[in-house]
Amino acid sequence: MTSTHDLSRRAFLQGGSLFLAAGAASPASMLAAAEEKPPLVRIGLLTDLHYADKPPAGTRHYRESLAKVAEAVQRFHREKTDVVVELGDFVDAADSVDTELEYLARIDREFSACPGEKHYVLGNHCVDTLTKREFLQTVMQEASYYSFDFGGYHFVILDACFRSDGVAYGRHNFQWTDSNIPQTQLAWLRENLADTTKPAIVFVHQRLDVSDNYGIKNAAAVRAVLKAADNVFAVFQGHYHRNDCKQIDRTHYCTLAAMVEGSGAENSAYAVMDIFDNDMIRVRGFRKQESYRWDR
Ligand SMILES: [Zn+2]
Repeated sequence: MTSTHDLSRRAFLQGGSLFLAAGAASPASMLAAAEEKPPLVRIGLLTDLHYADKPPAGTRHYRESLAKVAEAVQRFHREKTDVVVELGDFVDAADSVDTELEYLARIDREFSACPGEKHYVLGNHCVDTLTKREFLQTVMQEASYYSFDFGGYHFVILDACFRSDGVAYGRHNFQWTDSNIPQTQLAWLRENLADTTKPAIVFVHQRLDVSDNYGIKNAAAVRAVLKAADNVFAVFQGHYHRNDCKQIDRTHYCTLAAMVEGSGAENSAYAVMDIFDNDMIRVRGFRKQESYRWDR
């Protein structure tokens, strides 16, 4: 597969020879050369692994996520990612809490071999059998929603695994279509985005850009907070299992393809996102994952 990275390198080399021949850089070659500067931050992305030691069901090949993650981790090492974000549905259901904790420990062993900081977004399947505390303790993450800074950018992890009545998901107490960002988290988000002067990127499992079953029920209220902050460049989501991307206001809402869908390495999906200092984001998709490029 030819990546956009390869294409831009080729354009750069062609631009370089033009430069030598003509003695002046064309705008195209300058643009390509700017892309070749190291990014401010390089982030590995993957979602919807649904790992479980059980036979496939429909298009979901649960066991194969171990090998698919191993391939993504190898890529992240080659690319020297600074940060890796797992966008939820890391595990799938077992018939007991203990067995599911074993699934979680096993997939996390593979995933934890990534270079750089690791961040976990809660998906509905992460906290179907398990409680949030059990999941987070196993992957050694303190909170389900929080923010961090890296390379001049601000990153926010959201947790939409709450029912309409504000009760946190856990132990089969919810319907997957009833996903919400409670008022306390929304107020925290408003303040958190107001407190930074940096451009921001948001990660969340369920979708903020649709109002169907895959959407967070109060997505419009969350989008209003993002719009008012006016510093959110992109939102990355999982949950839908297919590629999708749309712009609402000034924010790109990018839904990543699921790793669990389909048998064989060719049906995996993961991405490497580079953020450049001219406020350009490039997402290089691997296997079934689409690639994107956005300028702000
Ligand atoms: Zn999923």
